[in-house]
Amino acid sequence: MNKKLKLLFFSLISLITLTGCADSQLGSSTTSAEEEPLQVVTTYSIIYDIVKNVGGERVEIHSLAPVGSNPHEYEPLPLDVQKTTDAEIVFYNGLNLEAGNSWFEKLMQTAGKTGTEAPVFRLSEGVEPMFLTTEGNEGEEDPHAWLDVRNGIQYAENARDALIKVDPEHAKVYEENAEAYIAELETLHAAALERFKEIPEKKRILVTSEGAFKYFSEAYGFQAEYIWEINQENQGTPNQITRIVDIIEDENIEALFLETSIDPRSMETVARETGIQIKGEVFTDSLGKPGEEGESYIEMMEWNIETILEGLSD
Ligand SMILES: [Zn+2]
Repeated sequence: MNKKLKLLFFSLISLITLTGCADSQLGSSTTSAEEEPLQVVTTYSIIYDIVKNVGGERVEIHSLAPVGSNPHEYEPLPLDVQKTTDAEIVFYNGLNLEAGNSWFEKLMQTAGKTGTEAPVFRLSEGVEPMFLTTEGNEGEEDPHAWLDVRNGIQYAENARDALIKVDPEHAKVYEENAEAYIAELETLHAAALERFKEIPEKKRILVTSEGAFKYFSEAYGFQAEYIWEINQENQGTPNQITRIVDIIEDENIEALFLETSIDPRSMETVARETGIQIKGEVFTDSLGKPGEEGESYIEMMEWNIETILEGLSD
């Protein structure tokens, strides 16, 4: 190869390399702009999972109240405020869930997410609310709608519609994800109805610490009893303990259940005073930890169905 040719050859190589580089850089930046996931904030783990199922790869979610904690009361951390400020869409349960100390309302103010145009969506929109009955709380909405899987379906539909509103270019993705997920939820609901037929009518009483099973009980044919009706404090008062002990004795109740996101001490006291066993732990206000039982909404509901079935069939 003579010098001239050699030079030409190397120029060509570098030209190709340069062009290649420029091309791929341009290509990747265009792709990443298109594929940049939506920045989403959810208030607690259960709606995190529902939104994740509908949003799929299109969403990057920061969830506020950690797994295993009680979302009724939450103290947002500086990172939560930052993520909420930057979020393109925020999902909350509503029905009074995030009302303790008005933490959610305050966070929305701090994060500049107020007003009718703010991309903040209540997933329980359209759910028929049930109400608290305890003196002093009468008329307040009960938040635990997701424990009826039909309401979970409503949440998924609301998540789909909100994502399409904020990110209409990817409507098809959200529609397809939602359709597949809702089909799974419909199967779950039907399975729950079928499985619970095994429990005799007179045994269909659920005793938990918090009265989280109103919606569940109406959907699946149970009577819900509790130490306290809604999580304000995490311990039952002596009066509340006496009240539930009387109910357990009057109704010949044979099983107690404990929630994974609640301090066990009150239910343990009830178990001691009545001699009735705690038959298992159920998920109410939180999923299980990643990699453990109940780590998705569907799995937590399946776990609850099996635990209740076993606890009440003996
Ligand atoms: Zn609760």
